Amino acid sequence: MAETVQFKAEVKQLLDLVVNSLYSHKEIFLRELVSNASDAIDKLRYLSITDESLAEGDSDWKIKIIPDAENKRLTISDNGVGMNKDDAVEALGTIAHSGTKEFIKAMQSKEVQENPELIGQFGVGFYSAFMAADKVTVVSRKAGEDKGIRWESNADGTYTIEEAEKPSRGTDVILEMKEDAAEYLEEHRIRSIIKKYSDYIEYPVTMDVEREVPVEGEDEKKETKIEEETLNSMKAVWLRSKDEITEEEYNEFYKHISHDFTDPAEHIHFKLEGTTEFTALLYIPQKAPFDILYKDYKAGPALYVKKVQIMDHCEDLLPLYLRFVKGVVDSSDLPLNISRELLQNNRMVEIIKKNLTKKVLEKLKDMKENDTEKYESFYAEFGPILKEGLHYDFSRKEEIAGLLRFSTTDESGVTDLDSYIQRMKPDQKEIYYISGGRHADLQKSPYLETFKDKGYEVLFMTDEIDDIVIPGLGQYKEKEVKSIVKGDIDLGEDSEKKEEKKKELEGLLGAVKTQLDDKVKDVRLSGRLKESVCCLVGDDNDMDPNMIRIMEAMGQSVPKPKKILEINPDHELFGEMKKLYETDSDSSVISDYSKLLYNLALILEGSQPEDPSVFAGRMSDLMVKELKG
Ligand code: ADP
Ligand code: MG
Repeated sequence: MAETVQFKAEVKQLLDLVVNSLYSHKEIFLRELVSNASDAIDKLRYLSITDESLAEGDSDWKIKIIPDAENKRLTISDNGVGMNKDDAVEALGTIAHSGTKEFIKAMQSKEVQENPELIGQFGVGFYSAFMAADKVTVVSRKAGEDKGIRWESNADGTYTIEEAEKPSRGTDVILEMKEDAAEYLEEHRIRSIIKKYSDYIEYPVTMDVEREVPVEGEDEKKETKIEEETLNSMKAVWLRSKDEITEEEYNEFYKHISHDFTDPAEHIHFKLEGTTEFTALLYIPQKAPFDILYKDYKAGPALYVKKVQIMDHCEDLLPLYLRFVKGVVDSSDLPLNISRELLQNNRMVEIIKKNLTKKVLEKLKDMKENDTEKYESFYAEFGPILKEGLHYDFSRKEEIAGLLRFSTTDESGVTDLDSYIQRMKPDQKEIYYISGGRHADLQKSPYLETFKDKGYEVLFMTDEIDDIVIPGLGQYKEKEVKSIVKGDIDLGEDSEKKEEKKKELEGLLGAVKTQLDDKVKDVRLSGRLKESVCCLVGDDNDMDPNMIRIMEAMGQSVPKPKKILEINPDHELFGEMKKLYETDSDSSVISDYSKLLYNLALILEGSQPEDPSVFAGRMSDLMVKELKG
């Protein structure tokens, strides 16, 4: 008895979306079904490495396409791993990947609504059949089992499932074609779609074709014969030689493995020979997949051992900060039955990883130097992910840093560290940066005053991750990379003059410090202020104020180190305060103003005043005083 089952709500939604929005790419349904058939054979081929009996003596792998124009029916048949009832319910009745909630969210997002092709990334695969068919029937028998199943749906919100006869192992997907999809029953159309999308499929994709052949012994006569023809060349793209592969073939293969509808930005195809041998075909996408920041994002290229797929994503083959890279690695050295656990500590895998990382970074460098526009759009998509490498890949820190781009006080646009160094003033020794939310806010920061005055360029760190990774950079090309909101900045001011000032204001500084003893570590003269009256700075090893804000926003409590209050020795205020201090060192004005200065400094660094209402009260008192003269 057939059981009728409701599709999960999200499947229903997905089906509607696929059928309505991928419409202009309708032909891909065939690619998807052939690719599933090929995956199913991959799986069985892999399983039968350890259990030969599973292949049941039939390892004549094949995918057959059977058009039936009369009945408007198209069948895609394979002798792969097959499905039992549980498999079919799970694989064809739910969306089993990427966390359903997030998936639905992404599906309803503005981006996907505007660029429907993006849903291709979800691996809508099987459901694309409904673009071409009113009804889809799947008859399948799983390897090693003797009962088959029949799954059927016409995409109306339900499907049926029941036991069924299936003489041979594998899966038949049977499509009752829509009126307007009859073209996919024509020989030449099928031929060209297979050639276009599935040429590199490793198994023969065959079809029975009619051929006119001469009748033996009768020269003039011909007869029609049915012959099974293989439509694809079956050559794994990555194993072919580079100059034989067209750009289009590279791009199609990328789309096949990534579910992306956009061409990749770059491909990297190379072979390593020697003690370790492998071939890699990697791609740098143009667009980030929707789920790249999700926890269960599948990172890493597919791993093949001598053309047998071992894993569709092997994250041990590339560092996580390159997780946007897609592709295939084929090694002839690894054992076919290697397990995930073994992979993690495999020396060969380490060597492959090292080489892939090197190649990808080289490619990025090349792109940066030779195609600025392309690099910029790459950087906009993946820059923050790449930056993680500063933190996690100590040995390549400098190489990665060289790939980064920053906006700066120099209004000419974005820069990288090398050109920053070229523009450094002759007397400038360090690379300076400031971090915080937006470029426009940073540009007005009081911390920049002396730097601007001296013509020293300051880099703006506006990505959230900057506060985590940039302080760890330390040096670039032997130049200190320094936050201008931390430590004592010495911009080579006349030290004699400075000493003089220091002596002059010593008493006042001491008095202010006493007033703020519970709030700041020290009060000192600033080398970085030109206009503003004061600012707060951290010690060299303290966390950046921006970092503290981020961590607090994430709900973490952060122990706040006391700051140092720096005052601008050239500001008129301190001349006046000094006079007052010398006549009345206990004046309440000194204590009031000390607190005001502290609050002003808090505001200038982007924080809240300590107690906004007390602060506002003090300010309004001052305004009254000023008006009363
Ligand atoms: P994906 O291929 O990305 O997993 P699909 O929607 O294309 O997503 O297929 C969903 C699932 O259905 C597959 O993962 C597989 O488990 C199952 N499936 C589809 N076609 C076949 C087939 N021909 N043989 C065995 N299983 C299949
Ligand atoms: Mg698929």
